[in-house]
Amino acid sequence: MNLNLARKWRSKNFDTIVGQELTIKMLKNSLYLGHFFPVYLFSGQRGCGKTTTARVFAAAVNCALLPEFQKNPKQHAVPCLQCASCVAMAQGQHPDFIEMDAASHTGVDDVRAIVEAAALLPVMGRKKVYLIDEAHMLSKAAFNAFLKILEEPPRSVLFILATTDPHKIIDTVMSRCFQLSFKAVSEQPLLAHLQEICASEQIRYAPGGLEHIIQATEGSVRDALNMVEQARFSGGIITAEAVHSLLGQLTDEQALRLFELVLHKGPREVLSFLQAHRVSSFSASAVWRTLTELVRAALWVRHGVAPQAYKDFQAQLQQLVMSVSVERLRALAEILYEHEQLFLRTTAQHELIELLLLRMCKQINPDDTSGAAGVPSSPSAAASVSSASVVGSQEEETGEQEEDDEDSDEIIDDSQSRAPWDIFLADLEQLKDPLLSSIFTQGTFVAYHADAGTLEVQFSKELIFFKDWLEDTKKSWRPLLLKQFGPSVSFAPLFTGVSRAAEKKTHTGASNASQEPSLALAFSKTDQEKLVVHDSGVAQQSVKNSSMGFPGAPKNVPVKVGWAGQKSGSSWANNTGQRGQPYYAHSRNAGPRQKPERPLDVADASSWRKATMLVQYFPGTLSEIEEKMESLS
Ligand SMILES: [Zn+2]
Repeated sequence: MNLNLARKWRSKNFDTIVGQELTIKMLKNSLYLGHFFPVYLFSGQRGCGKTTTARVFAAAVNCALLPEFQKNPKQHAVPCLQCASCVAMAQGQHPDFIEMDAASHTGVDDVRAIVEAAALLPVMGRKKVYLIDEAHMLSKAAFNAFLKILEEPPRSVLFILATTDPHKIIDTVMSRCFQLSFKAVSEQPLLAHLQEICASEQIRYAPGGLEHIIQATEGSVRDALNMVEQARFSGGIITAEAVHSLLGQLTDEQALRLFELVLHKGPREVLSFLQAHRVSSFSASAVWRTLTELVRAALWVRHGVAPQAYKDFQAQLQQLVMSVSVERLRALAEILYEHEQLFLRTTAQHELIELLLLRMCKQINPDDTSGAAGVPSSPSAAASVSSASVVGSQEEETGEQEEDDEDSDEIIDDSQSRAPWDIFLADLEQLKDPLLSSIFTQGTFVAYHADAGTLEVQFSKELIFFKDWLEDTKKSWRPLLLKQFGPSVSFAPLFTGVSRAAEKKTHTGASNASQEPSLALAFSKTDQEKLVVHDSGVAQQSVKNSSMGFPGAPKNVPVKVGWAGQKSGSSWANNTGQRGQPYYAHSRNAGPRQKPERPLDVADASSWRKATMLVQYFPGTLSEIEEKMESLS
């Protein structure tokens, strides 16, 4: 009875693990096929189920029923929770399951002890399973000691490294791991999970209470459960207000009131509000999030699209913003985004918020918004932020015109210098590497500077995750590039573009209206000012500087390779650390397919790393896994 909720409700089998379907499928598949990797790396944010999954997996590996499961997965489940091995696991007394917290055992000696013990055969199970939690905390020397056993792992040993920070794991270890990434758990499954627990624990909650907990804990099941517990003890019934006061956040009503004062009153009222509600005692980042979210919701409402946030206050919000010009709302958003970096760095966060609120009170001349000053790190990033959200309409029209001019002037030049790139893309197909082809075909040829030998290709910002990977795989594709551009070519990828889906929509307009909705689509459908068109205007400008034309309609090849199905939730939304969706939506559903699917065969061990990357960066399901798993479910 004294167990806290998170411990009490820790999953004992695969079926009760929330929100990690694909990872669970891969592990079950591994059990079913009897293919085990010597080292697994479970990566993902805190509280999303890594350790729990590792324990369940370890129990399954040693469960007496595993052979039955492999013969008939429909009839039997592993772990069975009943055999001697499963019971020992449940009691935390399994002799072959060794759990180590690297945060407190960082030294070489700890690792040496493991390495020595690993040479002994398992006592009661098939394999000795070592779970090393917080693996990124191991010292470098410890990693090196560990490497020895990874080079020639005994067949009877299985390591599971769990980490929130896979980048801190040294490459030589990393390359020997099979990496599974755990996503932040999305809202719906987590809500269902919390409701189930509340029902069974007789915890009362008001509408909106659990939702607020979910938003505040950003996909961590453990944090959400802990907060349910806190809220339960602080107020008896879990309400939105109880959650807000636990978090030190403005309630939605308070936030709307503050926004109203900014829009329709003045500095005096705003300052009085801050004082009366003691906003400076709240979490500054929470206040900041509330403001950005509110301005974003206001823009959505102003454009006639219902936003996710402030669902219950739609009418009120609508009334607030209808008399406010779109330009002013965009200017407000710009003020926030221009100062985001500063906000993150400054120690006087509340003072900055105060200052900006005062600035937002002033009526802003729409002409002032044209500057699109440097928001995040690079000018182009700033440009795409502004293009997706806050740039004035007049300017966009100009941008569009420029694009037209450019096209007609230089289209011949451009097609000539472009040709080798297209040949390169065609050649790439021969490598039969779906991921490689997919990435390169998403690039937009910008320019080839023959004198310097620099080949500029623009990729969308999301693809920056593949930068290292492109570098690592250079051996395979670079020869093809040399064939087209000569031996001195230097490949200069720019990861500054907007998501391809968004860009495509600007070029093809309404014909794509049937696609998955994204922020960009929502805007282009409803906004007569063609918000997104400016995206290509940005690309246009950089092209102009390089004296090359820019093709009006870039090639657009779908991201999806060997994938079936589409998940609506985006794990990236959670990665922004913001409540709800990121300010500019990323849609990776890049239009109609031009090629048939090429499934990755994940039964072949060498494909697993690639599968992992796909899982991580493209939500969806591997069709190959689905086929194999049909027999399981
Ligand atoms: Zn069992």
